[in-house]
Amino acid sequence: MFDKTKAISDLTALLGADKVLTSEEAIIGAQSMEFSFERAFGYVYPHPAIAVVKPTSTEDVSKILKYCNDNGVNVIPKTGGSRGAGSLVPSDDHTITIDGSGMDSYVIDEYNYAAEVGCGMPVARLEEIIRPMGLTTGHFPQSFPLAQYGGLISTRSMGQFSTYFGAIEDMLVGLEVVLADGTVCEIRPVPRRAVGPDLKNVFMGAEGTLGYITKAYIKLFKYRPHADLWKGAYIMPSYLDGMEAIREIMTEGYKPAVARLYDKPDYDHNYGTVELEDGEAYMFFVNDGPEGVQKATGDAIDRIAAKHGARQIGTQAIDHWLEHVDDLCSMADLEATAKVFRETKRSYGAITIAGNWADLKSIYKDVMAEEPGKYENQTLLGGHISHCYHNGANIYFVYEFEIEDPMKATDIVVKFFEDISLIALRYKSGTIEHHHGIGKERAYLCPQEHGSSYEVMKRIKNVLDPNHIFSPGTLMPLDSLK
Ligand SMILES: Cc1cc2nc3c(=O)[nH]c(=O)nc-3n(C[C@H](O)[C@H](O)[C@H](O)COP(=O)(O)OP(=O)(O)OC[C@H]3O[C@@H](n4cnc5c(N)ncnc54)[C@H](O)[C@@H]3O)c2cc1C
Repeated sequence: MFDKTKAISDLTALLGADKVLTSEEAIIGAQSMEFSFERAFGYVYPHPAIAVVKPTSTEDVSKILKYCNDNGVNVIPKTGGSRGAGSLVPSDDHTITIDGSGMDSYVIDEYNYAAEVGCGMPVARLEEIIRPMGLTTGHFPQSFPLAQYGGLISTRSMGQFSTYFGAIEDMLVGLEVVLADGTVCEIRPVPRRAVGPDLKNVFMGAEGTLGYITKAYIKLFKYRPHADLWKGAYIMPSYLDGMEAIREIMTEGYKPAVARLYDKPDYDHNYGTVELEDGEAYMFFVNDGPEGVQKATGDAIDRIAAKHGARQIGTQAIDHWLEHVDDLCSMADLEATAKVFRETKRSYGAITIAGNWADLKSIYKDVMAEEPGKYENQTLLGGHISHCYHNGANIYFVYEFEIEDPMKATDIVVKFFEDISLIALRYKSGTIEHHHGIGKERAYLCPQEHGSSYEVMKRIKNVLDPNHIFSPGTLMPLDSLK
């Protein structure tokens, strides 16, 4: 029989009272934006964490994990708290949240364009620290004002300038992680190695299910002010023409930092500054890098876009986008968001899948053929591409639902996510999630996503975390681990 009071007093004896928080405010706060729509109408978590524990060192994390592993306490790692999908919400009554946001140390190595940061270093703060040195992280997720390195790594995060700078896996050169039994492991920051598999990849994207990341070694890049970057915006005759243009730009070998393509419903909802005809699409690019590279890339974009029927327009909407791209994270102000939800009873969001160029077209067509009209209360269904590769891209499918019974909001959205995910899985190169992780919400689809290679994930989990103390139910369903 689990003794909550004893667990709290043991952890307090181990770490000191100031590092073990048990107030309702601390516990609910640790789940931050989770279910923010339902919370606006009074939703209460069925299984609150028993405590929020705040380590300040790797040694603290090691002590906490050893204790929890030996005493039947489950743990949910957390840093910035910006991720939803149930990943930060306990599913039982013997879970603590380990909040590493206090572990925000840093060392900058300007000569090697590198930094060593604690898991609690907010990407926005690091950017502030290094800008005066003429450096940038190159990592600008929409959650930029909130996200910290522990979460960024654990969700395989991706920033808005990813097509040039890459995603977190292109920036991370090493890390320190604490295993379930308290063992501390460092993956040294080498430029590249060919001495066995790349172990960083085991923990990147694990959503806190395989270990607690305490430190990250990352690359830094030369900073160029956004105002000075090359920009181009176009109206395309159709969404598929836009995709074809981006495919050609990427396969020719050009690397714009930002390459985005919006269909009309998505564009009208988010911008609406230019009148689009039915079926038309809005496409824009921002280039980074040395001036000559930006210009050569820009010239090619203009040429290829024109070949696919583009009508060039002004770049004001891009400036607006650059200025407001992080606004959604005003959601961190839960009361302000709650007020909007209560007034409108509308829930807005997005799911991002990916596929190769051919499959992505099919996924988009399938979604647009099958989903409209399926949900009576759906007031928006549209999509945009925002991260592009040589061999494919992602699409964010955006939605808005008018929700009569707020407590059913999650059910509706989860059903919609399932529809889109299953459409993506029809295709060999389709993936159900491009850069957020799947939390608990779509963990049941993880075995299907990975197919026969799920066996590898399952075995890694069972070896590294045999008692399944790390985030039970997140990413890998518990019954799939037997
Ligand atoms: C409005 C909005 C916009 C967003 N835009 C983007 C975007 O553009 N790109 C993008 O990639 N993501 C985006 N996200 C998702 C999310 O913010 C990011 O994935 C972010 O990286 C999470 O960082 P965090 O510090 O907030 O992590 P948290 O929310 O604290 O945690 C996220 C996950 O990582 C695990 N975790 C946290 N810390 C650790 C640790 N130290 N060790 C092991 N596991 C850990 C948690 O258990 C959880 O599963 C967005 C979210 C919101 C709400």
